[in-house]
Amino acid sequence: MPSMTVQAPAKLNLTLDVLGRRPDGYHEMKMVMQSVSLTDTLILETVPGEGISLSTNLGFLPADDRNLAAIAAKKLAEATGADFGHLNITLKKRVPVCAGMAGGSSDAAAVLRGLNELLGLELTPEALARIGEGVGSDVPYCVLGGTALAEGRGEAVTPLLSLPNCWTVLAKPGFSVSTPELFRRLDSQRLRCHPDTAGMLSALEAGDLTGVARRLFNVFEEVLPVRRRERVEELKQAMLHGGALGASMSGTGPTVFGLFDTREAARRGYELVKPLCRDTFLAQTL
Ligand code: ATP
Repeated sequence: MPSMTVQAPAKLNLTLDVLGRRPDGYHEMKMVMQSVSLTDTLILETVPGEGISLSTNLGFLPADDRNLAAIAAKKLAEATGADFGHLNITLKKRVPVCAGMAGGSSDAAAVLRGLNELLGLELTPEALARIGEGVGSDVPYCVLGGTALAEGRGEAVTPLLSLPNCWTVLAKPGFSVSTPELFRRLDSQRLRCHPDTAGMLSALEAGDLTGVARRLFNVFEEVLPVRRRERVEELKQAMLHGGALGASMSGTGPTVFGLFDTREAARRGYELVKPLCRDTFLAQTL
């Protein structure tokens, strides 16, 4: 029976800016995104029959047609008319859920990429990204991966020169943040600072890792409730004490990450942060 294994990498925000609220109610975003080697693994298997079944190692995730991986398969079938019979998806989650690392969107993107190959559909990455847009705003970026600028709701993706190879320590504190709540807070106050996105793009263009690390910035940090902001700050400081070139929060959080120039430096950072936060990971940028 045809089957294949696909990896779904987590993403980090090197920058995250919200430019304002649009007439359609969505927010205009400007974000520099980066994939990392912390991944979910999906096994896709087609068997005779119809429908989609999904199993996952995380009991609290929806294991039915509400799972973003299953939604993506359905959208692909609708968009292309492809008949894959019955699709079994086995999803091994490693990327923390509701953590600002687009784990669900990346699973959806991995299904699109995987089925494209398994079924020999020969859709371009751009065509897959457009199908992914119907699943979620971060899915087009996750289809393309690497280093990219995401604008609009996040769906308008421009690939960028890759971030110079480096290492990252990711720490996910044990609280969750409500994305709608953070957008509401952001709408009700004037942001003091915005990321230097143009400077970030120049640093990437120049392959200047220190310049990139110096410009890490996420506007959502400023609107976090006080206690949570303090916790994020504590983890950022720990990353910097541990030798990170820079540290920031990813997405709407709560994951905090630090960038390190070598594996050894990142390992030292990991050892320092791990006692402060149980869910701490070491990963490489892709
Ligand atoms: P983002 O960075 O895009 O804001 P996130 O890291 O905050 O994403 P996810 O982990 O991608 O959040 O997904 C969160 C929600 O999506 C949860 O409510 C979860 O139940 C639902 N969900 C559906 N399918 C998946 C999946 N395959 N993996 C993770 N979450 C999923």
